[in-house]
Amino acid sequence: MRYTIVGTDSPQKQIAMRSRGSWIRAFLPATLAAALWACAGPASSLVLVQQGKPSCTIIVPAEKNSIIQSAAEDLRDHLRKISGAEVPVVSNGREIKGVRIYVGVAPSGLKLPVDLTDRQLFWPDGYLIMTNGERLCLLSPRPEGVSNAVYGLLEDFLGCHWFTPGEIGMVTPRRSVVEVKIPGGYRVVRPSFEMRSPWYNGNAGARQTPEEATQMNLWRLRNRAGGMQGYAGQDWVSIFPKDLQEREPGLQAMINGKRAPHGSEAQICMSYPRAVEIAAGYFIGLFANHPTLDYYTFSANDNDSWCQCPDCVALGANPAERMMVFTNKVAAAVALKCPGKGITTLPYSSTIEPPVRDLKGESNLYPVLCSYSMEQVKPKTQENDWCNTYRRRVERWMELLPRAWSYDYIGWYPGPWTLFHKLEAEQEYYRKHRFTGMMPEYLDRNLGTDVHAWLSFRIAWDKNLRVGDLLSLFYPAYFGAAANDMRALYEKFEKQMLATGGTGEVMDVPRLYPIPLIEEALTRIASAKRKVATDATICARLERDENCLKLTRLWLDFWTSSASFRRSGTPEHKQRAAQSGLSYLQLLDSLDGTLTVGKAARGYVASSLEALNDPGTLFSKAGSFQYMDGLDDGGKSFQAKSRSGFSIGTYGLGLAPGATGEVVYDLRAGEGLKFKEARLVSMYFTLPLNGHNLVDLSVDEGRTWITVCRDTPMAGGTAEYELTKPIAGTRQFLLRFSIQNSEKEILGMDNWGIAGVVE
Ligand SMILES: [Zn+2]
Repeated sequence: MRYTIVGTDSPQKQIAMRSRGSWIRAFLPATLAAALWACAGPASSLVLVQQGKPSCTIIVPAEKNSIIQSAAEDLRDHLRKISGAEVPVVSNGREIKGVRIYVGVAPSGLKLPVDLTDRQLFWPDGYLIMTNGERLCLLSPRPEGVSNAVYGLLEDFLGCHWFTPGEIGMVTPRRSVVEVKIPGGYRVVRPSFEMRSPWYNGNAGARQTPEEATQMNLWRLRNRAGGMQGYAGQDWVSIFPKDLQEREPGLQAMINGKRAPHGSEAQICMSYPRAVEIAAGYFIGLFANHPTLDYYTFSANDNDSWCQCPDCVALGANPAERMMVFTNKVAAAVALKCPGKGITTLPYSSTIEPPVRDLKGESNLYPVLCSYSMEQVKPKTQENDWCNTYRRRVERWMELLPRAWSYDYIGWYPGPWTLFHKLEAEQEYYRKHRFTGMMPEYLDRNLGTDVHAWLSFRIAWDKNLRVGDLLSLFYPAYFGAAANDMRALYEKFEKQMLATGGTGEVMDVPRLYPIPLIEEALTRIASAKRKVATDATICARLERDENCLKLTRLWLDFWTSSASFRRSGTPEHKQRAAQSGLSYLQLLDSLDGTLTVGKAARGYVASSLEALNDPGTLFSKAGSFQYMDGLDDGGKSFQAKSRSGFSIGTYGLGLAPGATGEVVYDLRAGEGLKFKEARLVSMYFTLPLNGHNLVDLSVDEGRTWITVCRDTPMAGGTAEYELTKPIAGTRQFLLRFSIQNSEKEILGMDNWGIAGVVE
C-alpha cells in the first residue's frame, strides 16, 4: 500500500505506535544559548598526572549522590586510560594528596566568581569549572550539571571523545603527563539547548543485552545528553484513566453520538468543566512528590479519536485549536500552583495542522513538534511540497508558542544513514524559529546513525560548533589511516540519499542503496582494513560498518527475490526469497551482543518470511478470518484465481490509459465449514475519472454474478463493504474486482482485504 501525505496510516504514525511506551525519560529547558565567560585573569595550569603517577585526588561529597559518584569514578577511569595513573576518589579530607579535584562539592572558604544558585546562568544543567591554587572545581546547581562538568573537562580540555557506543567507540589520548589549563581561571558553561535528547527507540534497541543497554546510556551521558528533567510520552490515559471516566461520565469522549469510557484508544471530553481541574490536580501532586522534575507530559493519547460533542467542537476550528484551548487552561492552572514547572503538548497527526485563531501558548508550555508524515531524507529547508507544508506549519505554530522542541525521525531504512550535513541546516532553521531543544527518534541503528547522534549531541550542547569541523575531528580520530576511505564512503551514501529522497517507505530502499554502491563500499572497506591491520580497535570499527553493509546487501537480495516471487508466484522464486531472508536473519542474529546494528528491520524480514507461506484465500479454521494485501510489487495477487490487464507496480496494481483490469479471487471455507459473514475492509480501489469500477461476486462458480458496488471510489484504505447477505451459508465464492480506465495512467488497486467468520 501507499502512504498518503496526511493520514492515520502514515509510516511515522505506525512507528510511533509500535514504539509507544518506549519514550525515554529524559533528564534535566531553554531560550538560552551555550555561553562561555572567562574572567581576565592569568591561565592557571594544574598537573594531574606526572610521569604516569597520580599527582591529584578526586574529592566527592560526603553525602553520596549516585550521578556525581559515577561521574567521578568515570573521571578516574579516563585518567587511568590516558596515563596509567590510578587516581584516588575520596570523600575524606585526610586522604587527600596533590591537586584536589572537587567534583560536586566546593572546598570550604572558596570564593566563587559567580552565584551558583543563579538559575538563568546555568539553565538547566550547565556548570562552573574553575582552578584556584592547587584546586580544580567542577560545580553545578544540579548533579547532572556536575556530571556534564566532568565530561566537559575530559572532552574540551583533555581531548577524550565518545563517538559511538561501547568501548570501541571511545577515543582517549595517551600521555604520561596530564595537565589542565583553563584560560582566565574559570568557565561558566550553559548548554545551547535546554533539551538534548536524541534517542534510539525500542525497535532499534530490541534484543540488546543489559550490558549493551548500559553502554548506550553511558554514551549518552558522556556526550552530555539530557537537559530538562521530565517525560514527554503520549499519556492522557494516566491523567484520565478509564476507571475515573466511569466514576465521572462527563469526562467520556462522545464518538459517533455515544459517550463511553476509553483507555488510550481515544481522547476525553475536553469541554467537561472539571477536566482542567482534574489535570491540574494531577500535576500539582506529581510536582510535589517529584520536586526535581522540570516538566511533565500533557501530550494527548496516540490516536485521532477526539470528542465530537457540540461543546468540544465549539472549542476551535480544528483539533489543534481545541487541544490548545484546553491545554492552555491546564498550563495556566499549573503555573499558578507550581511556579517554574511546565507541561508538554504534542502537535502531531491530526493536531499537526496549527490553530487558525491567534491562540498564544502559555509560557510554561513545552511543545514537541513532530516532523510528521513528510519527506525524511532531503533537508526540511528544501523547496518541495512536503517540506513547504512542514515549514508553513512550523512557522505558524511558532507565532503562537513560547518555544518548541523538534522531533525528527532518523534511521528509517535497513541501510546507512550518513545525512550529516543537513543536520546543521535544519538546526539553524529550528534555532531561527526559537526552538530550544531536540528529541529526534532513531528508528533503527545502522552505519552512520551513531555518528549522526554524536553530531546532534555536540551541536545541541554548543550551537557554535560546525558539522564540518566536527567531522574533520571524527574521521581521523576514529578511523586513523582509513579516514579518507571512510569519509569518501560515508559521503557517497550521503550524496546518493540526498539525490533520491524518501518518506520512510520500504520501497525507497533499493533506490537509496543501489547494489553496485553497496558492493563498491564493501570493496573499499576491505582495502581500508589492510591499512589499519595493526590496530585492533580501528579494525573493529571498520568491521561494525562492514557488517552493516553486508546486512543491507542481504536485505536487498531478500527484497529482490521476494518481489520476484510476489510477481510470479513460482516455487523457485519462493525458495530463493526464503533463503535470502534466512541469510539476513542469520547474520543479524549472529551480531547480537556486539552493539553493531539495531534490530528494527528484523521484524520486517521475519514477518515477510512468514507471509511466503500464507495459505491464501482458503480459510480452514472455524472462527474469524482475515485476508489483507497491500499489493506492493503485486503483493499476494499471485494467489488470485486469475489476473489480467493490470500492471504490477511498486505500490500496487496499475492500469494503462484505456485499459481494463480484472482480478478474481476464489474464497473457500475449509472442510465441513461455511461462510457465516464477510466484509471488504481496508479498500483502496480507484474509480477513474470518466471510467468505471465494479466489485461483484459469484456463488455458482462464475455462472451468474451479483454486484457488490459499482462506480464507487474506495480511497484511503479504510472503506468497508458488507458481503454477508450473498455469501452467508456458502462454502465457496468468487470475488471479482474490475476497473475500466479512461485517459490517464492510474494506480488501480493499492490495498484490499476481506474479514469475516467461517463456522
Ligand atoms: Zn466533548
